Amino acid sequence: MKNEQDITNHILSLADRCVKCGLCLPQCPTYALTENENESPRGRIALIQGWLTGQLKPSEKLMNHLDQCLLCRRCERVCPSAVPYGEIIDRAKNLLKENRSTSFYTGIKQLSLKTLMNKKFSSPLINGLRFLQKSGGLFLLRKSQLGKLLGLQPYLEILPELDKPFKPEHFYPAITTKQGEVALFTGCLSGSFDSKTVEASIRLLTRLGYDVHIPPQQGCCGALHMHDGNQKQAVNFANHNIQSFNPLKNIKTVISLVNACTSQLKEYPGLNTSDSFSTEVKDIIEFLSEVDWPENITMIPLNKTVALQIPCSLQNSLRAEEKLITLLQRIPGISLPPDAIYNKCCGAAGTYFVNFPETSDKLKLQALDKLTKSQPDLIISSNLGCALQLKAGLKQQNNKAEVIHPVLLLEQQLKLI
Ligand code: SF4
Ligand code: SF4
Repeated sequence: MKNEQDITNHILSLADRCVKCGLCLPQCPTYALTENENESPRGRIALIQGWLTGQLKPSEKLMNHLDQCLLCRRCERVCPSAVPYGEIIDRAKNLLKENRSTSFYTGIKQLSLKTLMNKKFSSPLINGLRFLQKSGGLFLLRKSQLGKLLGLQPYLEILPELDKPFKPEHFYPAITTKQGEVALFTGCLSGSFDSKTVEASIRLLTRLGYDVHIPPQQGCCGALHMHDGNQKQAVNFANHNIQSFNPLKNIKTVISLVNACTSQLKEYPGLNTSDSFSTEVKDIIEFLSEVDWPENITMIPLNKTVALQIPCSLQNSLRAEEKLITLLQRIPGISLPPDAIYNKCCGAAGTYFVNFPETSDKLKLQALDKLTKSQPDLIISSNLGCALQLKAGLKQQNNKAEVIHPVLLLEQQLKLI
């Protein structure tokens, strides 16, 4: 789709599938908090229809109702008309972006985000943040008014303890009978914000018999830019990643470690990219639950209490929550009663925690109320943004529960050969 009219017609044709039944309303977290129709999926679709047919002006108020959507896509799961709500709102926000000016504060927040997501600049920025963290400067910044004045407080709250970044090799050979070759998508932040999971994923995959390739040129998946209405930048990232992975030969699958990134990688075919991935993309949860594990692999029983957070991207986009539960059941002794599982938005939602910190905090507290009820030692989360949000909340509550990626937990429970 090249021009604005084609895109408008496309959005309207998708939105026309909505029969306004309202079945999605009870599922929507922003509607549950506000009881305002404009903060519901049905209401937002109606606003988009009104604007695109010229009956409503794209006022600041209208745009705010769209911005306040978490993009959790929980509404899509229950829709009897299979309305592709995520696509409708992403495309609508991209159209709006072109007609919208950016405020000073939004500009600062977006610049910080873009710097972190861009590999060229993220390294010095993360090194600087690590230095500030170790020297206590970050603590002072957090306590001072400057972070608040610049609107950066939510970033400062969610920032995890930064270890030395993990820079992986380009290739790791299988360490048992070879099953195949895979490529790993580590994205832009996992190496700095969750290096233990990246390392554990490589160890587990090679232990299962896979050669692991990690193209060093790969970069951000573009999800945050896409959901922020910046489709042009998202397409640039997509083209870059496709060019980074396609030259690899004999690859069975591109495996992504973060659910939200996987969802975005799987949506590349719907973007106007110049090429497409020459192999399938899978989340590591999907891959590990679908492949055969060598029979000689045994696991140490878990003697800890766990709770499980199911990220929206895993549940509503990849629709793979059952696969995660099946995978975790490989660990002897693990107990996951329904009471210990939380599957609603935790409020991180890409950049939502920065743009709407009050709503984000409410949703974080709702998630933690449920997840900490059984006083777990571990809270399992397979999406980096959710894990950081939950960690920040636990820290505020002085709760010592550890937030852990399922692959790291699985790998820790492996019995050494
Ligand atoms: S459930 Fe689907 S069809 Fe019904 S109001 Fe919501 S989006 Fe529209
Ligand atoms: S994506 Fe989530 S927040 Fe947005 S309308 Fe759907 S259910 Fe509500």
